[in-house]
Amino acid sequence: MDICKAEHINSASMLGAICMRCGYANPRPGIGSKQWVSFNLCDLRGRSIVQRCTGITPRMRRLALGGPDVVAWLKSDGVEFPAAWVKLRLDGRDGRGYTIRQVDKREGTIDIDFVLHYDGPDNGTVSDWARFARPGDQVDIRGPRAGGFRLLPDSKWIWLAADACALPAAQAIMESLPAGVEVHALFVVHDNDERQSARFRVG
Ligand SMILES: Cc1cc2nc3c(=O)[nH]c(=O)nc-3n(C[C@H](O)[C@H](O)[C@H](O)COP(=O)(O)OP(=O)(O)OC[C@H]3O[C@@H](n4cnc5c(N)ncnc54)[C@H](O)[C@@H]3O)c2cc1C
Repeated sequence: MDICKAEHINSASMLGAICMRCGYANPRPGIGSKQWVSFNLCDLRGRSIVQRCTGITPRMRRLALGGPDVVAWLKSDGVEFPAAWVKLRLDGRDGRGYTIRQVDKREGTIDIDFVLHYDGPDNGTVSDWARFARPGDQVDIRGPRAGGFRLLPDSKWIWLAADACALPAAQAIMESLPAGVEVHALFVVHDNDERQSARFRVG
């Protein structure tokens, strides 16, 4: 079994590497890789409203975003592609990319897991917003952008590498895998308190 091409792993900035039989990792989701899909969904452009806030770890907080715009968009085909991502924008500032961790069509929400950045010169605009967000707060949302993972049909194994920000994408991908696909992964998080358990289909 070939190991992934190292230059691909090294060049990937967020979701580090996807390597299956072809050994290819694409650092630019949606462009040129068979593992990533571009899809035309009825674009979500509107306001999302925080429905629920859950602490995942000391440095990761999950917000369930809903409201009429999100509910309408959830009726489109393909919203559950693992690792699809949206742009969140606060008060006319530049948008920031965030992965849809999971969708709940019944409840009409998408979950996003926000890394809370405490260590830089500032805490991060969206990160800081997510840290203090309460039910009823609103944020502009656009997407999903091109991106979303699909497994090549005859894949036997997958290699994933992720930092904390890419962990929601990696988790969504892992949970989507059929039983029997072998997973090799390298996840880098701040400390032991940031470890999370992974869910797999058994087989
Ligand atoms: C496709 C895609 C999907 C993503 N999915 C997620 C996701 O699901 N969850 C998530 O938390 N992030 C995710 N990110 C990363 C997120 O977009 C960035 O971390 C973004 O910069 C955060 O915006 P901000 O306004 O909080 O901080 P910014 O204004 O961009 O940065 C200000 C300060 O925040 C701190 N900071 C911001 N980002 C980082 C970082 N990655 N590492 C260390 N310090 C940082 C630094 O101190 C920085 O100086 C994703 C990025 C992409 C491209």
